Amino acid sequence: MIWLYTEKLGKIAVIAKGAKKSKSRHLSLTLPLCYGEFVVFKGKNLYTLSEGRITNSFQGLLNNLEKLTYSTYICELIDICVTDEEDNGKLFKDFVTCLYLLNTDALDYELLIRSFELKILNATGYGLNLDNCAYCKKSINSAAYINMSFYGGVCEDCPKEYGISLSKGAYSALKYLNTAPMDKIYRLNINKTVKDEIAKITAYIINSNYSKKPKSLEMLNYIKE
Ligand SMILES: [Zn+2]
Repeated sequence: MIWLYTEKLGKIAVIAKGAKKSKSRHLSLTLPLCYGEFVVFKGKNLYTLSEGRITNSFQGLLNNLEKLTYSTYICELIDICVTDEEDNGKLFKDFVTCLYLLNTDALDYELLIRSFELKILNATGYGLNLDNCAYCKKSINSAAYINMSFYGGVCEDCPKEYGISLSKGAYSALKYLNTAPMDKIYRLNINKTVKDEIAKITAYIINSNYSKKPKSLEMLNYIKE
């Protein structure tokens, strides 16, 4: 049995008969990270794989520990954050774009992952509002605090509680990442401290809202330290 994340049907469980046999025409289609067109039939509870065509097998991601960990992580996020059989064309497109960008050498992967985290949070109802104060709703350009009950910035005059303080640099970077398309994040140039501030915020929201916590980044953080 494999899990497919699809544009039309959302996340589905699929039976791929005989895929483990080395001569099976289904073997390459069922490898991790394989992106392609799949024909499936719906049974009583599960789908059955009939045929498919590979668009990109993303094998380059499997040969690099950092890229492999990041791609495993975004798959894990889809698994954790998205409800079964709930289609979302935009999120699907962002997911595939993220894999393509990870497969290049041109980007800061850490920022790419933060951008994808923000996209999935927006798509699943936990998006940040960084344009208005979470309490008084007045329009804000920047802030030094994010309230984690309302997922929004807090202006100078309102209470700083139930949230996380951050630098103005982190606030503007977060604001940019929250709305910019993933292929535009190369325009953002920020240092490690600011990156860590942003990671703390997205990790907090992800870890406190879904029924499972993602695990795949732990190993990478361990290796990096
Ligand atoms: Zn306010």
